[in-house]
Amino acid sequence: MSFTEFVTQYEVSIRLGFFIGIFAVMGLWEIVAPRRALTVSKVVRWTNNLGLVFVNSLVLRILFPAAAVGVAAFAAEQGWGLLNYYQLPLALSVVLAVVALDFIIYLQHVLVHAVPALWRLHRVHHADLDYDVTTGARFHPLEIILSMLIKFATIVVLGPPIVAVVIFEVVLNAMAMFNHGNVRLPMELDRVLRLLFVTPDMHRVHHSVEDNEANSNFGFNLSIWDRISGTYIAQPREGHEGMTIGIHQYRDPRQVSWLPGMLALPFIGKISGYAINRREWSKPDAS
Ligand SMILES: [Zn+2]
Ligand SMILES: [Zn+2]
Repeated sequence: MSFTEFVTQYEVSIRLGFFIGIFAVMGLWEIVAPRRALTVSKVVRWTNNLGLVFVNSLVLRILFPAAAVGVAAFAAEQGWGLLNYYQLPLALSVVLAVVALDFIIYLQHVLVHAVPALWRLHRVHHADLDYDVTTGARFHPLEIILSMLIKFATIVVLGPPIVAVVIFEVVLNAMAMFNHGNVRLPMELDRVLRLLFVTPDMHRVHHSVEDNEANSNFGFNLSIWDRISGTYIAQPREGHEGMTIGIHQYRDPRQVSWLPGMLALPFIGKISGYAINRREWSKPDAS
């Protein structure tokens, strides 16, 4: 059985296995040695954040039953996309595709911060008052749909092998759980890992209430996109224990920690002038 056949045949088990495995490891690590104390109880956080994950899986299954893998198969049949056109060795195609998909995810993340209407959707991810493994999966259903459409468009242009799409989705999922972990890596390990990959400390900076920190470290997998694009900040100004997680204006747990509040969050308030080019920062009382 070839690698591609293996991945296609056991796709569901591979996805589920990785999800449950990494979730269990991170969840346990957070209980044994948490990096920061939680402000909202773990029971409330997990039931509501995972409730949102459940809603999203349902929405995706109903709207896009063929999913990204189906689009990749269709593109391959039609001969669409760069990698279907050039017919490189499979291993090379897979590496190129995974790296390219990661760069698109980085750009998409910058986009949802830069455009005020899209920030309304994305702020559901940022409004979490704490930072743990479940934050990594906490996205508004409309943002999940937007992500899927951008991924479909990317696949049609790129023509990645089906196995690359599965690998990318599994890796993105695993990395999102890892780098949202409320955990502490040994400093030296963090430093070495960070040369290439996003670490929990690196992505935590992105969840700061301070605008310039929240508009940094957009990467999910590879750390190079932030470095070469000039959006990299190494550490939060107030330190990892002292920094405040979330968004200044949204601190009410009923609104940001409970599922109905999260679903309503994009539709609250006037469209503000919030945009990524606001690089200054200020304390809430000074703004
Ligand atoms: Zn973000
Ligand atoms: Zn995040």
